[in-house]
Amino acid sequence: MNPFSYARASDPGDAVLRGAAQGSQYLGGGTNLVDLMRETIERPSALVDVTGLSDRIEERPDGGLRIGAAVRNTAMAEHPLVRSRYPILTRAIVAGASPQIRNMATVGGNLLQRTRCAYFYDTDGARCNKRQPEQGCDARDGFNRMHAIFGGSSSCVAVHPSDLCVALMALDPTVHTLSSQGEREIPFAELHRLPGDRPDIETMLEPGELITGLTLPAVPLGARSAYRKVRDRSSYAFALVSVAAVLNVEDGRVQDVRIALGGVAPKPWRAAKAEAALRGAPGNEASFAAAAREELADAVPLRDNGFKAELARRTIEAVLSQLAGEAA
Ligand SMILES: Cc1cc2nc3c(=O)[nH]c(=O)nc-3n(C[C@H](O)[C@H](O)[C@H](O)COP(=O)(O)OP(=O)(O)OC[C@H]3O[C@@H](n4cnc5c(N)ncnc54)[C@H](O)[C@@H]3O)c2cc1C
Repeated sequence: MNPFSYARASDPGDAVLRGAAQGSQYLGGGTNLVDLMRETIERPSALVDVTGLSDRIEERPDGGLRIGAAVRNTAMAEHPLVRSRYPILTRAIVAGASPQIRNMATVGGNLLQRTRCAYFYDTDGARCNKRQPEQGCDARDGFNRMHAIFGGSSSCVAVHPSDLCVALMALDPTVHTLSSQGEREIPFAELHRLPGDRPDIETMLEPGELITGLTLPAVPLGARSAYRKVRDRSSYAFALVSVAAVLNVEDGRVQDVRIALGGVAPKPWRAAKAEAALRGAPGNEASFAAAAREELADAVPLRDNGFKAELARRTIEAVLSQLAGEAA
């Protein structure tokens, strides 16, 4: 590990002041960042601990919630208002990592955790454009069973690893940030970038920009939600494919539907084609199957991961059928 200084921020302004210094990086629970520092993939010269900031969950007048960036993943999953209004978030969080990691990990850190692509972690032998721009990508022609079938580029096919982010993608939250330029609100769908020819730039945040929290809009009454994660082991494994869905069927027709996929793209993937096909359609298995087929028709599998397209198709169909069954 390289030498670095450590300071605990006393308030958001203090954090941003310290975070603006060259080589500074924010420290949440450290469950991802410290690993990356050990591997020398991340080399901050200063860590600004932000776990003392904004760790509250507050109800909004419209029935939504404001969640501070320093809320621990366990605290968020267990909060009564999250469990009752956004069970999809609780399910996504507990599907990830281990209880010990979830006790440490924060909302802000979870949003910005980095890919688990094995080539990104292999500092001894592998080429990786995300780790070192313009170096090349060994995943594209290497063992790419875990990699992207949507949104990849010739520079990068790594997938985004967060379960929480997939569930958030189906809820359209707003991300709140603070930097030396002031406060900003970013629609969650715009936070993460696709790789293009700059896979090292993963979000639209500016250097030193601090995530202070999230606002979740109220979920319409009558909507049902689910998060299903398919993985190689039943616990402690990243998703091969995951599906987050919110479905509202009234009088047999789909009034509203949101579907997001994990494990398939460099960012949490909104299944916009499937959603468009379903709005106003009968809320039955035939519509769900057709919509899932339409979404997966655009998949671009790599050598080893063609199975993900079929797996995602079936999982979308199964999750929507489950939700429609619950609504009946
Ligand atoms: C063995 C293992 C298994 C795991 N399995 C899963 C899994 O199945 N599913 C899953 O979703 N995750 C999994 N994880 C990842 C885990 O969820 C992340 O490590 C965790 O969410 C990161 O949160 P953190 O607070 O520890 O972030 P940190 O490691 O502290 O930080 C991560 C990044 O976020 C930045 N950051 C932190 N807070 C802020 C802020 N407020 N504003 C701006 N930047 C900030 C840091 O600078 C850093 O770049 C696993 C991790 C491990 C080690």
